[in-house]
Amino acid sequence: MNILFFGPNGSGKGTQGAILKEQCHVPHIESGAIFRENIKGATALGLQAKAFIDRGDLVPDDITIPMILDRLQQADAKAGWILDGFPRNPNQARMLHDALTRAGLVLDVVVEIILDRELAKQRIMGRRLCAKDNNHPNNIYIEAIAPAANGTCRVCGGALSTRADDQDEGAINKRHAIYYDAVNGTLASAYFFRDLAAQGAAIRYLPLDGRPSVKEVGASLVKLLG
Ligand code: AMP
Repeated sequence: MNILFFGPNGSGKGTQGAILKEQCHVPHIESGAIFRENIKGATALGLQAKAFIDRGDLVPDDITIPMILDRLQQADAKAGWILDGFPRNPNQARMLHDALTRAGLVLDVVVEIILDRELAKQRIMGRRLCAKDNNHPNNIYIEAIAPAANGTCRVCGGALSTRADDQDEGAINKRHAIYYDAVNGTLASAYFFRDLAAQGAAIRYLPLDGRPSVKEVGASLVKLLG
């Protein structure tokens, strides 16, 4: 099964992607993660991409598109893939569509986690990290996982802190501006496939309400894929 996975920062996309991977038994290919690996390994690609990523800009299409099309041809992706973080603009969407058509491959499913921009921002800025355990979720804006009344971890009472990049409102706004742009940005690329589905292509376009708890959204996702 070949799947595209869309959702803004703060929508729980990472967690849902992991659920999807378990469900479908195909590799979860994240464009951002590939860039980060290349930067860590100081490869030519990493060096080319780093300055753009550090500024929070998109890496140019002539670097990103071949990188992803190449990744999709690797052995572990033969039986399918979940692509996450790509496409992020209409040109990337068109190039992906053309490449799949040329290779005789189909896109089976497109998942779009829908979450209002303000809510997505709150979820990022409300995140609190437990000093004792990374897996103790706390968020001052999500009632189900709100910290204890004295401001400590709701699970274990550990001290809570914020992650610096979660509090960088400028950076969050910049990423969201790219995501929510339905003309030139990520949503435009999602809608490219939604339109193809509406015109009769055999793509299942699945909008997923991102407002409920991570667990509930995950359950809806599994059900939708049914
Ligand atoms: P992410 O982890 O998905 O937020 O990606 C981290 C960074 O990698 C982004 O802010 C971009 O600079 C770059 N990046 C990831 N995917 C793409 C893409 N499809 N097109 C261009 N740049 C990308």
